Amino acid sequence: MKRRTRKRRILKWSGVGLCVGLAAAWVVSHTYQISYWGSSKFAITLLQGALVGRTRNIASAGTAWVVEPTEGPSVWWPECVAQGKFDAIWIPMWMFLLPTALATAWFWWSDRRYRSGCVDCGYNLTGNVSGACPECGTPIDQKQRDLPSDA
Ligand SMILES: [Zn+2]
Repeated sequence: MKRRTRKRRILKWSGVGLCVGLAAAWVVSHTYQISYWGSSKFAITLLQGALVGRTRNIASAGTAWVVEPTEGPSVWWPECVAQGKFDAIWIPMWMFLLPTALATAWFWWSDRRYRSGCVDCGYNLTGNVSGACPECGTPIDQKQRDLPSDA
């Protein structure tokens, strides 16, 4: 029980972090395009609110991160295009953000029942006056004790 609660907390907050990161990347991608050249043949670029996977036929050695100024409208729908010498697939970032946000929301929602419980073992502490969890002895702060029980 102890480990599970901690894992949930990590999942909840990494979900939030990931959503914030993706949203920030989406905003930034309208001003700067960020490319990662994974090999001489393949690159991934964050551009105009989308993640673009593309091939290139310029012979180049090694991998590199490249940041360049950019402008252009937001991309909302996936597209597969031949861009001159490039074959590119555009995947709008909301397609990554949406499932992440939904999963995060679900973690937060499903965690509600732990609110009135011990942060360590989940034991229901509603009406507790001793200031410590009777199950595992973890000290309880006042704020947590006063929350109404969902269970
Ligand atoms: Zn406890």
